[in-house]
Amino acid sequence: MPRHFDTTFDVVRELKPSYPVYCLRPDILRESAKRFVDMFPGNVLYAVKCNPHPEIMRYLHEGGVRHFDTASPEEIALVRRQFPGMNVYFMHPVKSRDAIRSAHRVFGVKHYVIDTEDELEKVRAETDGETDLVIHVRLATPPAGAAYNLSAKFGARPMTASELLKKVDGYGYAAGLCFHVGSQCTTPNGYRIAVELIRQVVDFSGVKVRYIDVGGGFPGQYMNQRAPGLEVFMEEIKDCIRWLGLPDTTFMCEPGRALVSSGVSLITQVHLRKEDQLFINDGVYGSLSEAVTGQLRFPVRPMRIGGDFNETDTLDFTIYGPTCDNMDVLPATVTLPADIREGDWIEFGHIGAYSNALATHFNGFYPELLVTVGETFPFIDGEFPQVG
Ligand SMILES: *Cc1c(COP(=O)(O)O)cnc(C)c1O
Repeated sequence: MPRHFDTTFDVVRELKPSYPVYCLRPDILRESAKRFVDMFPGNVLYAVKCNPHPEIMRYLHEGGVRHFDTASPEEIALVRRQFPGMNVYFMHPVKSRDAIRSAHRVFGVKHYVIDTEDELEKVRAETDGETDLVIHVRLATPPAGAAYNLSAKFGARPMTASELLKKVDGYGYAAGLCFHVGSQCTTPNGYRIAVELIRQVVDFSGVKVRYIDVGGGFPGQYMNQRAPGLEVFMEEIKDCIRWLGLPDTTFMCEPGRALVSSGVSLITQVHLRKEDQLFINDGVYGSLSEAVTGQLRFPVRPMRIGGDFNETDTLDFTIYGPTCDNMDVLPATVTLPADIREGDWIEFGHIGAYSNALATHFNGFYPELLVTVGETFPFIDGEFPQVG
């Protein structure tokens, strides 16, 4: 069990950490899961890759998540170790034959994704003639308002998807269709465009599609990316489902980011200041890679013990990470008190998604300490009250 503190300021006061500290908010994680499960008209699969830490998964499970979207035997094993008997789905369109065999034989996984005929044949060959499986055909969707496009690499075009559905059906499998609008999709319209394609593929194939999986992509809130609330996305999706009019179809989704982003913050420490440059103990090879890959800007708040910041005077700082690589720098400057100095701390909020999951050991730096805290990270129209 991680140590619990009432506030992140208590973490700083007690540990005076010179290393990065992940601060989990169990209540927010449970509540995000519960809201999603309550609002989505179907099965909610947590996309494990987004944050596979067992503590994160524990709170999501406590909040009602019962299905897990995985992409490797390692992730499948991780879920099964922690939650024996929980529903695991193998949603990667390109799997090794060994991975398919172990998913089938060792873990009894029933759901697989394909986007080519070759992959369908692989799944068929490696699952011992079992037909009590669901094969989902992944459809590529046009990019629409997402920070990351996930259809450049995976997904069949509509005509191919339709042919694949017919093959899946012909082999006696239950057929599914899935897509991913791209991660950090800030417009509900992205889902509508994808569902319109789904409609064409369903109609054209003539196959009874038992599962439709609208994927992940539900956004988090960042300083430069304010997205509509979850209820707006859910209304759009419910409207799309009514329009599809498929009463015997089970709907699924695979949120990662939306379940975890606001439930974690990260405490970092300033190790040196050179004028308007700050050198801190975490960076783009650690927890902050999405500052580069998704151009995301996280909310921050400075912390100091034994003194106050000058609250009126701020400065835009360039923030460098701890490794010796030139690239280890945040692409956008961060506004902080002008008198911030060595030994102060900077807390980054909304850091739950794709942070620890992507952190490397490069140069001997690896953020790993995790605690739980009671407070929420303040996020009020771009204003972040300072503490300390
Ligand atoms: C990454 C991924 C997800 C999760 O995406 P988010 O944008 O974090 O919601 C879901 N499904 C698949 C297939 C993915 O690759």
